Amino acid sequence: MSSFNVLITEVACPDCEKRHEARIQFKFGNTWQLQYKIGDKVTWGGNDIGIPNLNEVNAYGIIESTKCPYCNKQDIVEEYDILIKNDVIMGISPMASMENYLGENGEYFVVT
Ligand SMILES: [Zn+2]
Repeated sequence: MSSFNVLITEVACPDCEKRHEARIQFKFGNTWQLQYKIGDKVTWGGNDIGIPNLNEVNAYGIIESTKCPYCNKQDIVEEYDILIKNDVIMGISPMASMENYLGENGEYFVVT
């Protein structure tokens, strides 16, 4: 079984526009079912994926459920870019392009 970390953050539903707390899986840093929130610093020294202290990197994030708990539609965005600067998780945005991840190991790409 492969391990991942989880970013817990709010996402908005495109249908009812309500926000709810979601779990977004990603693999960067010590990858061992660790839970993070926006503003947390990624830790290293274990099952490491990636390189510490990169200036700016995007990690590939995938949400655990696309179902909105309010309206029950399944339109929540599934894939995200998780922006990480100097190991601090800055925020998420809907994935711009899967192609960005093809040049690395599929889990992250270096922005600068
Ligand atoms: Zn909804």
